[in-house]
Amino acid sequence: MHSAYVDVHCHLTESAYELDLAAVIERAASRGVTQLVVNGVDPASNRKILEMQQQYPTVRAAVGIYPIQAVSRHLSELPMPIEVLQDPDAEIRFIAEQAQAGTIVAVGECGLDAHWLGPETFAEQERVFLALVDIAKQQDLPVIVHSRKLEMRTYELLRQANPARVVFHCWGGRVKQAIEIAQLHPGWAFSIPANARRNGAFEKMLRELPETSLLTETDSPYLSPQPATRNEPQNVVDTIEFLAALRNWKVETAKDLVWRNFCRIFAT
Ligand SMILES: [Zn+2]
Repeated sequence: MHSAYVDVHCHLTESAYELDLAAVIERAASRGVTQLVVNGVDPASNRKILEMQQQYPTVRAAVGIYPIQAVSRHLSELPMPIEVLQDPDAEIRFIAEQAQAGTIVAVGECGLDAHWLGPETFAEQERVFLALVDIAKQQDLPVIVHSRKLEMRTYELLRQANPARVVFHCWGGRVKQAIEIAQLHPGWAFSIPANARRNGAFEKMLRELPETSLLTETDSPYLSPQPATRNEPQNVVDTIEFLAALRNWKVETAKDLVWRNFCRIFAT
C-alpha cells in the first residue's frame, strides 16, 4: 500500500463541521490525507463516529471518554458547555463491546486533565482512564491519551498498566521527558499537532524524538496553524513538510516514516 498522510487525532463530530463535513474530508483526501482517526469524547460523539466510519472510507473510529466528561456528574460548574455523563461505567462497557467487535482502531480520547479540573476529581479521572487503558490492552488496540498538566502522572499510570500501544496526543510536558519515554517504550508514540511551526516544544519534538515514535495529528477543530481559525485534517501535510525541513529529509521520507509508524501502532 502507498504511504498516506495521517491525522491520528481529530474531532470531526464537532458542530464546527456541521455544514461542510464532506468537503473537509474530501479536501484532506485530495491532498493524500486518507487516514483520519476521529476521536470520541462522550456517548454522543462516540456513536456519531461509528456512523461516520460507515459513511466515509477515510474515517477510522476511536471511541473514548474525555476527562471532563468522566467526572462531569460531580462538578458544580462545568468548565465548558458539555452534556453531563451520568453513567461513565455504561459508556466504558459500550467501548469494551466496540473493541471486542472490532469496530474501532483505538480507544480514545481519554486520560487526565488538571487544566480544567481540580484535585478532588483526580481519583475518579484515574479510575475511568485506567478502565479504558485496560480495554485497549485486552484487545491490543492503541490508546490515545490526553495528559494536560498531569503528564508525568499519566505516564506513571501507563507505565504500570503497560499497554503495548500508546499515542500521547499533544504532549505538554517537558520535551526531555517525552524523549526518555519514547526511548523506554518503543511501541509508544507522540502525535505532533499542526501548529508545530508556532510552538517551540513541538518543533523540538519533531527535531529530536526517536524516528519511530513520531505521529501527526490536528486535534481539529482546535490548535489550528492559523490562530483563531478552524483547523482541518489536511493541515498534517504541513507538519510533515516541517518535519522534513527540520531533519533535512525529503518530504516523501518524512511521510513514509510517519506512515510506517501509523501502520505499526494502529496495526493496519
Ligand atoms: Zn482532542
